[in-house]
Amino acid sequence: MSLTEAHILDNLNDSQKRAVTAADGPLLVVAGPGTGKTLTIVRRIAWLIHHGARPESMFAVTFTNRAAREMKERTGALLGNAASKIFIGTFHLLGLTIIRDGGADGFTILSRDEQIELLKTLMKCPARKAQQAAESISRIKNFLDDEDDGIKEIFEAYQSALRQKNAFDFDDLIRVPVEMLARAEVARKYRDRFTHIIVDEYQDINSAQYRLLRLLAGGTGNLCAVGDSDQAIYSFRGADVGNFLNFEKDFPDAGRITLSKNYRSSSVIINAADSLIRHNAKRIDKELVPVCDRGATIAVIDLPDERAEGEIIIREIEERMGGTSHYQMMQRAGGGEQGSGSCRFSDFAVIFRTNAQAKAIEEAFLASGIPYQVIGRRQSMQSKEIEETLAYLRSLIRPDDIVGSGQPDPREAKFLSAADFFDPRADAVTLMTLHMAKGLEFPVVFITGCEGGLVPCTIMKDGVDMEEERRLFYVGMTRAKEELYLLRARNRFLYGQRLTQSPSPFLKEIPDEFLKSTVVPDRMKKRKEKDSQLGLF
Ligand code: ATP
Ligand code: MG
Repeated sequence: MSLTEAHILDNLNDSQKRAVTAADGPLLVVAGPGTGKTLTIVRRIAWLIHHGARPESMFAVTFTNRAAREMKERTGALLGNAASKIFIGTFHLLGLTIIRDGGADGFTILSRDEQIELLKTLMKCPARKAQQAAESISRIKNFLDDEDDGIKEIFEAYQSALRQKNAFDFDDLIRVPVEMLARAEVARKYRDRFTHIIVDEYQDINSAQYRLLRLLAGGTGNLCAVGDSDQAIYSFRGADVGNFLNFEKDFPDAGRITLSKNYRSSSVIINAADSLIRHNAKRIDKELVPVCDRGATIAVIDLPDERAEGEIIIREIEERMGGTSHYQMMQRAGGGEQGSGSCRFSDFAVIFRTNAQAKAIEEAFLASGIPYQVIGRRQSMQSKEIEETLAYLRSLIRPDDIVGSGQPDPREAKFLSAADFFDPRADAVTLMTLHMAKGLEFPVVFITGCEGGLVPCTIMKDGVDMEEERRLFYVGMTRAKEELYLLRARNRFLYGQRLTQSPSPFLKEIPDEFLKSTVVPDRMKKRKEKDSQLGLF
């Protein structure tokens, strides 16, 4: 079947259609969660190609490799073979391509650990100090800090060591192309090559990525930026909510389209999330209109400890899957018949603020036999994504590095090596941090650890940005399509100690009409009650 305009615009609302069909020139699409931003990007790519743009001339920037893979699949489904010629990927992948095009050869890319090792040797210092230096160097390379006297000497020694090794670090993959594109003829080459640039999750680009984009797009470029300032969750690594404001300053004739209908979540979830985010003072107010029905009330469950938290998640999943025994679960996980409901394990997500919370939940899953996958197990999504991207980028330089992928050509759609855990088609429950959940959606979402200290995450450092923490919780809540659980343990074993936890202050910001609270009593209390009842007989 040949692709028609009607097919590309199928089911889109008027604003989405306007974004898909907008004429060339800078365009800003700003809209809340679940309003079809990512869907609109896919359709716009198809629209542009249908109207004569060459697939090779298109660069679609995604935030993660996983998002790139999903977008590839979705454009592939619409466009067939032509989709494989579109450059869909992260800034780092583009940066690597530019560096290689520039003639660099035989180089290696240092991982964060290798970087710290190198700094340890250069500075003859313990890991902690080297780590701090690595962070300072990273900020300089991302154009966030200047190279001041305190770091100058070590910065230069580090750069010269990299040159000697013919190596780049991860940040160089953006910084070096920015420097290369400062030369007019290099910039022209890439502006001719990429005549259309589309950026998803624009709210989270940092200063170096912004510079690269500006250079690629030129003064009047066809740059389409799509995002939501309420979902900016990376200011800690230099992302800037001011991106949107800058966009309109940089491109005064930019078109702006807002999408307001939310197709993802029940109206209870959207209205509750909206009430929460309105507590942020620094935000651009925007409309979010739920298209779906009211749906189930959000369950707030107050539990004795983290073990009970894992148990309740398992119980709720088992209930929806229509099977209760370990054996039944194993059968289903092994490809046996589905449960009585139409649910799949992949319909459920368990989301937490810190990776330290994952252990107790994994234990509950292991005991139950329910299949699960953890994404972003490392300290932060940043390091996970870096490791994943590195594995992939290294495979491009040295195909032998691909571990167990079984792919003869590393450039094929299989986007990553074995380092990539997340398979969107796997029938397993997804466990991940709030940061990793960005852009995803699941029918049933459990947000665990809705406690003071974790949500907002004040347990590890002082002076956290409350508004960013609120946006992070907002991202979590808006991943849910039908059912949302907010779980809180009164007692939690975390970072080597047992802590008494108060409820998250964010829970109070959600009106009661959207919540149904349940308190599960302490185990000890329950046992005592049972014993005293037995005593009566
Ligand atoms: P986020 O901000 O969380 O990344 P988003 O704005 O990118 O969200 P999408 O993921 O593109 O939103 O879409 C959310 C859901 O709504 C998807 O399941 C998508 O298929 C559905 N959707 C979007 N637009 C429409 C529409 N016009 N009709 C029906 N479903 C739609
Ligand atoms: Mg999206």
